[in-house]
Amino acid sequence: MSTELYNVADIFGEDVFNDTVMQERLPKKVYKDLKKIIEEGGELDLSTADVIAHEMKEWAIEKGATHYTHWFQPLTGVTAEKHDSFISAPLSNGKILMSFSGKELIKGEPDASSFPSGGLRATFEARGYTAWDCTSPAFVRHDAAGATLCIPTAFCSYTGEALDQKTPLLRSMEAINAQGLRLIKLFGNTTSKKVTPSVGAEQEYFLVDAEKFLKRKDLIYTGRTLFGAMPPKGQELDDHYFGTIRQRIAGFMKDVNEELWKLGVSAKTQHNEVAPAQHELAPIYAQCNIAVDHNHIIMQTLKKIACQHGMKCLLHEKPFAGVNGSGKHNNWSITTDDGINLLEPGKTPHENTQFLMVLTCILKAVNEHADLLRESAADPGNDHRLGANEAPPAIVSVFLGEQLEDVIEQLVSTGEATHSLKGQLLETGVKSLPDFMKDATDRNRTSPFAFTGNKFEFRMVGSRDSISGPNVVLNTIVAEAFSDACDVIEASDDKEKAIHDLIKQYATENQAVIFNGNGYADEWVAEAERRGLPNIKSMVEAIPALTTEKSVKLFGKYNVFTKDELESRAEIKYESYAKALNIEARAMLNIAKKQIIPAVMRYTKTLADTVIAVKEAGADAKVQEEALKDVTKLLGDAKKALAVLEKVTDTAAKKEEGEAQATYYHASVVPAMAKLRTPIDALEMLVDKDVWPMPSYGDLIFEV
Ligand code: ADP
Ligand code: MG
Repeated sequence: MSTELYNVADIFGEDVFNDTVMQERLPKKVYKDLKKIIEEGGELDLSTADVIAHEMKEWAIEKGATHYTHWFQPLTGVTAEKHDSFISAPLSNGKILMSFSGKELIKGEPDASSFPSGGLRATFEARGYTAWDCTSPAFVRHDAAGATLCIPTAFCSYTGEALDQKTPLLRSMEAINAQGLRLIKLFGNTTSKKVTPSVGAEQEYFLVDAEKFLKRKDLIYTGRTLFGAMPPKGQELDDHYFGTIRQRIAGFMKDVNEELWKLGVSAKTQHNEVAPAQHELAPIYAQCNIAVDHNHIIMQTLKKIACQHGMKCLLHEKPFAGVNGSGKHNNWSITTDDGINLLEPGKTPHENTQFLMVLTCILKAVNEHADLLRESAADPGNDHRLGANEAPPAIVSVFLGEQLEDVIEQLVSTGEATHSLKGQLLETGVKSLPDFMKDATDRNRTSPFAFTGNKFEFRMVGSRDSISGPNVVLNTIVAEAFSDACDVIEASDDKEKAIHDLIKQYATENQAVIFNGNGYADEWVAEAERRGLPNIKSMVEAIPALTTEKSVKLFGKYNVFTKDELESRAEIKYESYAKALNIEARAMLNIAKKQIIPAVMRYTKTLADTVIAVKEAGADAKVQEEALKDVTKLLGDAKKALAVLEKVTDTAAKKEEGEAQATYYHASVVPAMAKLRTPIDALEMLVDKDVWPMPSYGDLIFEV
């Protein structure tokens, strides 16, 4: 840990090939050409690319870089990279040169055969290409491998199908740009040239001590605990949330921030979260694709720095049963190049027709495609979190807050919104404290999709997942709603009336998706069912949303996914679910058979010996005998449950890959895992702590 003091402004972005560096280093014409492409799209010609590559290489070498990599986001959920050094073939004098061509900058060709493609490409058709996403700046990363120039890229197959998370994201940004511009033009905006989604992702994570982590095979293999009895204290006192940050954690956060700032990631907020050992980091929002890249950098940095501090960072959605899981709040808004946020309601939203049009379009989009949004947050870990009592429910609904809900009600009941509820003065009752204006709307932490002032916050997203998927869906469904609205308005002779009627129509037709109450309450589940809102409880049940006729039409129309791409993605998701569950089930069997059951058996021997010794001493051995009986009974239960789990896991592995296999894991393996966990967690409460073969929940989350 460095103790040097520094000025953040001096180090911010020092490892990024950002606009300032480009302006300083590139010839004027080259800079202008590149800038134009960054802003308006298009293709770089090779000679320009050569100049950029050369300057980028020189800059990176000054930073100590020896290698470069096309940094991409295949469908594994994590980023991938292959490193090439800058060295060229040795010269006749035995020396080498450091080189990096334009061709190497704009295009890479990793062997694609080992990345998931969901049948898009047979293994023998291994070609895959990475293409530079010049809208996300290159950076130099320092780690044990030295310094590496990382070039953010998209990854496609030989035939142009997307094999990654980024390509569809960029396509969806183009869709919302085109439809957003079309819409605001109808409201008289002739100055904005670009409409871009802005995203700020709040990242939750756990930190545990590395030595203890290494004694937990479940954490090592699956990222979550598969066994573990609740400690005497959980999160009931709410004393961790926003609590004082302990020194060990503070030292970690300091180093994380420093590294992120150097990489141009605007780490802004950090605090303790609800569960013990749980924390959060939020950067300032950025253009959607940059925010996605930055979120990957944040996750990697958290993991790397944790190791340097003798800790492990857990990004799993539910590392510990019984306390809060981790998610990612995807804050999303739509901004024009000249700084207008289309989600800014102003003080009197009822008069702001453009805002009401945008808002009701989003309501329509979310209501019509709730299944896709839900799917975008589905992952095996999130199955343990969504719908559990501390995470947003699996039902997609929208929280608007009192002020906007009131405007919508006026629109629906009278067709006209005539007033907006105002924020009131909040009296503190203390003379020395100022009274201040309250927001017109309170917060709702239980809503999966909440309007928070000038942005929507999608809270279902899993903590480990790329935020790319959720933003692809958001951008595309809102682009569609904008486009539908534009079709109607453009065709009308009386545009003002058309807009007015549409706002009312969309508000009325989609009112069912608005819910301002407590999303964690059981009553809401029943109420949502009455309203006909889907409640998709698991990943396996969520995946089919990708390939419905509605979805194929939507993504096809805006060139975000072809039908083949959607089908391949569904296939990959089924497979990854089955694989994850197979690993979890086998890890559980392994730990139970090789660690826990033997330890418990040894303990029963100790108990049996004690019973004999106590009796021999002429005392009453009733308590010891009872303990032995209880432990033996649970051991028997565990053995039985283990046999069942073993059987279903074997059956699952033999099923044909795809939907059927994933469904079997969900329906048969998951419950068998729970059945094994119950007696073992009960045993943990009976068996001598010195004998238990791994650190407990208490050790892990209270002693970091
Ligand atoms: P909250 O307390 O409502 O969760 P914060 O101020 O902590 O909000 O912000 C959470 C995240 O939302 C941050 O990453 C922040 O930069 C981001 N954010 C703020 N305004 C916007 C906006 N207009 N569009 C997208 N993200 C935003
Ligand atoms: Mg938030």
